[in-house]
Amino acid sequence: MNCDDLRASLLRLEGRGYPAYKDLRGRYDFGDFCLELVRVQGDPFAGPSRLGVRVEGDVAGFPRALYSSRVRRIALGDYVARRFALLAQRCSRSRGSGKSGRLKMERPGQQVLEQSAVMVGEDGTLELRFTAGLPARGRRIAGGEAEAMLCDDLSELVAATAYYESQDAAELELHVQTVEDSCALRDQLTEHGLVAFVANGSVLPRESGVDDRPLGDDVVEFVSPASLEVELTTPNAGVVRGMGLATGVTLITGGGYHGKSTLLRALEDGVYDHLPGDGRERVVALGSAVKIRAEDGRSVAGVDISPFISDLPGGRCTRSFFTDNASGSTSQAANIIEALEAGARLLLIDEDSSATNFMIRDRRMQELVAKEHEPITPFVDRVRQLCEQHAVSSVIVIGGSGDYLDVADKVVGMRDYRALDLTAEAREVAARFESGRRFEALNGFEAPAGRTLQRAGFDASRGRKEVVVKVRDHGVIVFGEHEIDLSAVDQLLHPAQLRAVAEAMLHAGACFADGHRSLAEVMDLLFDELDREGLSVLARNGEGDLAAFRRHDFAAAVNRLRAPVIKLARQG
Ligand code: ADP
Ligand code: MG
Repeated sequence: MNCDDLRASLLRLEGRGYPAYKDLRGRYDFGDFCLELVRVQGDPFAGPSRLGVRVEGDVAGFPRALYSSRVRRIALGDYVARRFALLAQRCSRSRGSGKSGRLKMERPGQQVLEQSAVMVGEDGTLELRFTAGLPARGRRIAGGEAEAMLCDDLSELVAATAYYESQDAAELELHVQTVEDSCALRDQLTEHGLVAFVANGSVLPRESGVDDRPLGDDVVEFVSPASLEVELTTPNAGVVRGMGLATGVTLITGGGYHGKSTLLRALEDGVYDHLPGDGRERVVALGSAVKIRAEDGRSVAGVDISPFISDLPGGRCTRSFFTDNASGSTSQAANIIEALEAGARLLLIDEDSSATNFMIRDRRMQELVAKEHEPITPFVDRVRQLCEQHAVSSVIVIGGSGDYLDVADKVVGMRDYRALDLTAEAREVAARFESGRRFEALNGFEAPAGRTLQRAGFDASRGRKEVVVKVRDHGVIVFGEHEIDLSAVDQLLHPAQLRAVAEAMLHAGACFADGHRSLAEVMDLLFDELDREGLSVLARNGEGDLAAFRRHDFAAAVNRLRAPVIKLARQG
C-alpha cells in the first residue's frame, strides 16, 4: 500500500466511528520513506497513536562519516530528533476534538542520549518514532483532516528533518563532533588516573533549578587552578586543558554561595554528553560516577549497611537491612552500598543533601555519646577505606566540617566561583589544629555481598491488567500496584529514561531474573543486550519515548521497588 491508498482510505472513513481507524494499521510506501501506523488510539481523548517513519540510508543521504560509529549514530539521531520534535510542535494544530492534529516526538534535554525517537542504523537508515492524535469531530473520524495531517504535513516534516540536504551541515557536524569529543575525554580519564575533568572555559551554572540551560548573565567561566591543570586530547577539537580530578578523595570547599554545589552538579552530569553551547560539553566524569545523598523515607531491601551502621536499637540486623521507611543516615548508607554493588568507581556527595550524622562525628560527640551507643560509623572514617580497599574515589562538597581535611588527597576551594587548589593550605591547617578524633572504623570495609533477584517481584499486573507501567511527573514509575519514587536519584534526568528503566524492569524480570542470578548478573545480561542491539530491545511496540539509562539507574529502580524482588538472605 502506498500514500494514495492511505489518502483514499482516510477519505473513505470520513464520519465513521473512531475505532474504524484501527483498520489502517500497517505500512505505507510514501516513495521516499515508509510510514507505519504501529498502534492506533481507541478514541480522540486517549493516548495518541504511535507512528513510525523509516528512511533508507541512500535517501536520507547523510555522509557516511556522520554515522560511522555508535557514538556518531547516537549524536546524529539526537540531532534529527531535536529538529523533528521542534518542527512537529510547530506544525501541530487542533484538527478537531481531544488530541486531534497533535504531532509529537519526545524532545531531548541538554544531554545527548541514545533514544528511541530517532534511531540511526549502521547503514545510515533512519527510524523515526512519534505520536499523532488522529483527527475526529466528537468521536467521528475527520478523514479529510487526517489526510492533510498524515499525507501532506507529515511528508513535509520528514523532508525538513530526515534528509541531509535540509540540514544545516555545519551545525550538524559540530553536534556530532562535540559528542564524540566528550566521549573521548571520558574514555581518557582512567588512563590518566583521573575520575573527572572540567575544561577551562566551561559554563557550569544553570539558568535555574528547573531550567537546565546555561546561565545567561554574569557567568564566571571555569578556569582550572594551575596545579590541577591537565591536558587531554580530543579527535575533533584537539588539545583541551582543564582541571583534572585524580583518583582518591577530593574535597570541594569554600564559603556558602561560592559555587561548590554547582561544580558538583556539573560532575554528576558529567556522566552524560551535552549539546554544543550547553557549557558542559567538556565536563566529564567516570561513567560509573554516582551521586550519593540522604533519602529518608525510601525503602531498603536486604542491603548490608553494616560498614556504616550496626547494632541498631532492638538488635535489628544491618547485614541484610530491610525497611519501608529509612532514616537519613540509613538511606545514605544504603545508597552507597547499592552504588558499590552496581559497580560505582566514583561517589559524588554534597553536604547540602547529606545526613550530618552520617558524614561527621566530631571529637566532642565521640566523648558525649560513646561508640557503643552510636550505631553509625561516619563516612569520614570509611572514605579512605573505600578508596584504598575498593578503588572507589570520592568527591565531597563540604564547607562545614574541617574533620575531612585529614582524609583528603586534594582540596579544591571555590571562591567567587573561581577554583583554587587549597591542598597545601589545608594540610597546614590540619597539622596546626588537630581534630582530636578517634578513628572508628577499625574492622575494615567488607565488600557488599550480591543480592539475588526473584522473578515474582517484577510482577507489573494490576487488577485484571497483566501489565501496567507508567511514568508520572516528578520521577515516579508506576509498576503494577507499586509506585517507585526515583525523585531523589539526581542523575536520572529525563522522563524518557524513566520509561526505559520501567520497560527494562519488565524485560529483565521476564528474561533474566530467575531466583538464582544476582542483581549485578542480571544487569550484566541486560546491558550486554542493550549494547548489542540498542534501545529497540525495549521498544518492541514502537515506543519512541525511551532514552538510555545507566546500570545505576536500573539498580536504583529495583532497589526502590516495594515488592519482594530481593530474595531474603538466610539469617545467621
Ligand atoms: P554553594 O554550594 O557554594 O553554596 P552554589 O553552587 O549553590 O553555591 O551556587 C550559588 C549560586 O551561584 C547559584 O545560584 C549558582 O547558579 C550561582 N553560580 C554558581 N557558579 C557560578 C558561576 N561560575 N558564575 C555565575 N554564577 C554562578
Ligand atoms: Mg551548596
